[in-house]
Amino acid sequence: MLKYTDSSVVFQEIPDEVTLAVNLSGCPCRCPGCHSKHLWTDTGNELTDSEVDRLLDQHKGHVTCLAIMGGDAAPAEVDGIFARLRTRRQGIRTAWYSGRSLLAKDMDLNHLDYLKLGPYLAHLGPLKKPTTNQRLYRVRGGTLEDLTPQFWRK
Ligand code: SF4
Repeated sequence: MLKYTDSSVVFQEIPDEVTLAVNLSGCPCRCPGCHSKHLWTDTGNELTDSEVDRLLDQHKGHVTCLAIMGGDAAPAEVDGIFARLRTRRQGIRTAWYSGRSLLAKDMDLNHLDYLKLGPYLAHLGPLKKPTTNQRLYRVRGGTLEDLTPQFWRK
């Protein structure tokens, strides 16, 4: 079961999108520099399709993208959320922030418009640092375009 602790509308996590970011709990990644250790525990409310719709409806006509932050313990469930959202709301783009270096085999790129990969390593910094190990990709036709350098110009 996917659970989330909170959600918010953000403007910088995905370039050129107004994004509803939903933070999942139960993170298994244990990044050494983690700034969100409260997300390691199994806590929060269940993230169902109807809950996704309820959150999106709160920002109808404003939000252009749904980003699920985390879910590495159950990528198949995250994939299912995106797959079903694609059929219900074709105008909403999808983004997944994974803390893994490689894409989970249970995530179908056809269900994603954006993908962030990489654990947070404090000595390398976040996406906005040119030294970062993390990458933010645009997904098009199953291929990945690295958008990470866009974060360094801001
Ligand atoms: S992916 Fe890493 S930084 Fe993000 S919540 Fe999990 S352990 Fe923390």
